[in-house]
Amino acid sequence: MSQTKYVFVTGGVTSSLGKGIIAASLAKLLQAQDYRVTIQKFDPYLNVDPGTLNPYEHGECYVTEDGAETDLDLGHYERFLNLPTSQANNVTTGRVYQRVIEKERQGAFLGKTVQVIPHITNEIKERMQLLAQNGDYDIIITEIGGTVGDIESLPYIEAVRQLVYELGDDNALVIHLTLIPYLSAAGELKTKPTQHSVKTLMESGIKADVLVCRTEHELTDELREKLALFCNVKKEAVIQSIDVKSIYEVPLKMQEEGLDTVVLNRLQLDPHSTTQLEEWKQFLAVLDQPKHKLRIGLVGKYVELQDAYKSILEALLHSGVANEAAVEVVPIHSEALDHALENDLFTALDGVLVAPGFGSRGTEGKINAIQYVRENNIPFFGICYGMQMAVVEYARNVKGLTAANSTEIDEATSHPVIDIMEEQKNISKMGGTMRLGAWDCLLEEGSLVQQVYQTTAISERHRHRYEFNSDFTDTLFDEDFKLAGKNPDTQLVEIVENTSHPWFVGVQFHPEYKSTVAQPHPLFVSFVAAALKHHQNKK
Ligand code: GLN
Repeated sequence: MSQTKYVFVTGGVTSSLGKGIIAASLAKLLQAQDYRVTIQKFDPYLNVDPGTLNPYEHGECYVTEDGAETDLDLGHYERFLNLPTSQANNVTTGRVYQRVIEKERQGAFLGKTVQVIPHITNEIKERMQLLAQNGDYDIIITEIGGTVGDIESLPYIEAVRQLVYELGDDNALVIHLTLIPYLSAAGELKTKPTQHSVKTLMESGIKADVLVCRTEHELTDELREKLALFCNVKKEAVIQSIDVKSIYEVPLKMQEEGLDTVVLNRLQLDPHSTTQLEEWKQFLAVLDQPKHKLRIGLVGKYVELQDAYKSILEALLHSGVANEAAVEVVPIHSEALDHALENDLFTALDGVLVAPGFGSRGTEGKINAIQYVRENNIPFFGICYGMQMAVVEYARNVKGLTAANSTEIDEATSHPVIDIMEEQKNISKMGGTMRLGAWDCLLEEGSLVQQVYQTTAISERHRHRYEFNSDFTDTLFDEDFKLAGKNPDTQLVEIVENTSHPWFVGVQFHPEYKSTVAQPHPLFVSFVAAALKHHQNKK
């Protein structure tokens, strides 16, 4: 078996430079050359996973097939590579320490003093190499969260140093992503912050092999030479990453700059072919010049934060391209709809998506929005909480159960149409305890969703504690409002649809996590197609 090669991606100068996108873009280019690649992310915070984090902290929590609650960068990895990730692809300091402390309690360290070096760094190194165990990958790209110089990143940087030393130069390399700021007063791009950041890395014993430079302006030849000289990298390893309109353009930009070639050369790997990335380019061509335009309202309580619904936004973009349409997403704060709807706002929309969520804030607004789109035949897509609120809305406004609610919002409601799942009742711990990951769902023959998926057996990812209360099956479902999908083992309601409406679907699961550039999610594609039809009928 050939040796797995390792690429480490570190970040300097500031956060939010897009290490995840650079890692995913490089992986895409290497995958296009038939290398088997995966990407993993190591996050320096102490939470065991991001599942308990408020979206205001690090944006959306992404969920993998095996039910790991992970950093949103794993979503980018899957969307770019069209390959699933797993629990092993995301490690946090909390998880590392938890394991080391567990081992200490088991006496695994044989009376030694347990220390950051070597015990924490050994645990990190072991996890960095975990995905190589089955020989499934030629190259593993590891993104180190945070910025070089942060106290909390130090054990990771030290682990990378040791691994590069142990694996040897042919088998491991370090890419440093940095910022070249433009000072408009001086009319100049500045290299000093990058020089300092590379030096900080060197103080930890790591020499950056490749510099990827985020910039708003083209780097001149002279500037590239200067960066190469002062940062100790070859000139061809100074890679410009100029601002682009879409993250999906980045792989092509990196290819133009020769990032894949530099990496393969350095790792002593042959370039397999000059990759054309034809399908990717076609996707970008439609994205750039769409034939149609439409507007989808996204109703949620975190809409002011663009990262909170990352996977939903990307899934809408993918399915827009599949429909040759540009989807403009109109963020609508659900709390703003708690008391009154601005009808003008809604009539200007071609479809409405009600987002997932937790807790009671903004739920009345979600219910009001759903009533409006149901009564006015505007395409509606409810995801998780959005589906649950669609059930509450129907119970209240059509079935006359005016006090109907989810027990998450009103524990004492007389009509708990959404209730906590039986197996959740005795759980008191918050982290990793929801119904998570992929579960099977059986679709009803003749339902809209069956047509959309072109099959009756599907599997989708979940993240919830509450469910449709089956005591209300007979009361709520009727000729219009139908159960369209359920779990074959537990009978749990997974999908509801309203058949007297042009497109009204609520799903208990999260289809957005499975939408990729190569395979836009069928439900999103169908929803956007319905919105497009609505748009054209309005004219
Ligand atoms: N709060 C709801 C539940 O726990 C919905 C969760 C979600 O939208 N992801 O069931």
